[in-house]
Amino acid sequence: MIRSKWDQRIKRADELAAEHPFAAEVLRFYSHVARFQKDLYAGMADVGSDLHLLAPKFPDFLSHIAAAAPKPLAQCARDLRKLELGQWVNILDAFWRVAPQFQPEPGRATELLACIFLQPYAEYRAGCSEASPPRETFGTCPFCSARPVTGVLRPEGDGGKRSLICSLCSTEWDIGRIVCPACGEETVEKLAVYTTDLFPHVRVEACDTCRYYIKTVNLTKNGRAVPVVDELAAIPLDLWAQQHAYVKLRANMPGI
Ligand SMILES: [Zn+2]
Ligand SMILES: [Zn+2]
Repeated sequence: MIRSKWDQRIKRADELAAEHPFAAEVLRFYSHVARFQKDLYAGMADVGSDLHLLAPKFPDFLSHIAAAAPKPLAQCARDLRKLELGQWVNILDAFWRVAPQFQPEPGRATELLACIFLQPYAEYRAGCSEASPPRETFGTCPFCSARPVTGVLRPEGDGGKRSLICSLCSTEWDIGRIVCPACGEETVEKLAVYTTDLFPHVRVEACDTCRYYIKTVNLTKNGRAVPVVDELAAIPLDLWAQQHAYVKLRANMPGI
């Protein structure tokens, strides 16, 4: 059942890439990455919590990325591939210490590669741990304290239950329907919602108090959606949000 989570993401990315040409490049790269992450995750029981046991798998990952990534990322992967085991260990160690605060953005290719590589590790560790009590900072992951990469509405009763999915470890946690995850604003008039016919099941949820936004995937409208993948595909919503001077709470893997 746990393995199938990766298969669902890969299948959905391939489906959406065929449906939406403007997002095809992003989704094909994601699909490629997710296939590698799936294999990493499957071997995670042997790694346990020892990050150093993962480092020998880094060069193989870098070779895969170099063959499929957009140019700057591919070049960075080729450069890192030339380093030695001790240096890979240092890069992964250094990233892991600051991973929850990481934002994918141009010029941070080394950290982005470390982040993609360590996501299955983070997800595995989160899956093994006892559920943590929710922290007061409800807009960050209760397990690893990274920011959410997407919101989700799941069917509950006649309506939907809102939750957030962690950008690093994929933990999902509940949040109220009408509240800004960044600053806690609860005034309806301050919370903007935007949708487009292209993706009727995805919406921008923006806050006029702190100017942050997140996209939320509504599974009550489309039960086939896979939140982290549909979030990636709905690029026109990000364009709208950014044209209106909102800032994304946590950029997704391609830095959107
Ligand atoms: Zn997390
Ligand atoms: Zn806010």
